[in-house]
Amino acid sequence: MNIILLGAPGAGKGTQAELICTHLSIPTISTGNIIRAALKSGTEMGLKAKSFMDEGKLVPDEVVIGIIKERLAEDDCANGFVLDGFPRTIPQAEALDAMGVVIDKVIDIEVPDENIVARMSGRRVCEKCGASYHLVYKKPENDGICNLCAGTLVQRKDDHPDTVMARLDVYHKETEPLKDYYSKQGKLAIVEGQEEIAETSALVLKEIEA
Ligand code: AMP
Repeated sequence: MNIILLGAPGAGKGTQAELICTHLSIPTISTGNIIRAALKSGTEMGLKAKSFMDEGKLVPDEVVIGIIKERLAEDDCANGFVLDGFPRTIPQAEALDAMGVVIDKVIDIEVPDENIVARMSGRRVCEKCGASYHLVYKKPENDGICNLCAGTLVQRKDDHPDTVMARLDVYHKETEPLKDYYSKQGKLAIVEGQEEIAETSALVLKEIEA
């Protein structure tokens, strides 16, 4: 099954993507994680993306489309995948269609803007493997340490409140029109993000099994 997770930054896409990939045994592909890994290893693409990312702006379409094209060609995507953070613009969605990638379902996790900033301030990510946590909603077993790889948990620079506001603005202008795009293709399912992660997960799994 080929799935896209849509939603504002901080809506919980990453956490729900992890759940779906465990449930269906398919990989999660997060363009944000791929770009952060490229930045960490100092590749040209990573360095180019840095200024856009730090300001809460989108990395140019041609860069992320190239990333996705390469990643989807890998063997582990043959039985399906979950896209987390791609597409984020109409041209990205059109590029996916042009590649002949058939998307089965698009799940949009809706969280009101006023809840997003509060959620993002508590978000922490593992600097080693990229797993995400939350100081209130998804605590690690040991403070500041990743459950999966024992890496150190840090706050992403682009999760600071000013950048979050910029990212929300970009989300409404550039990404939200994708709801209409996929609704017209009859693929859109909307899930209201719940206070408890497990409650949102139950709604997401219901949509996948529908
Ligand atoms: P994320 O981890 O998905 O929130 O992505 C972090 C940042 O990476 C975004 O704010 C963008 O700067 C960049 N990025 C990730 N995915 C995309 C995409 N599909 N299109 C453009 N920029 C992206």
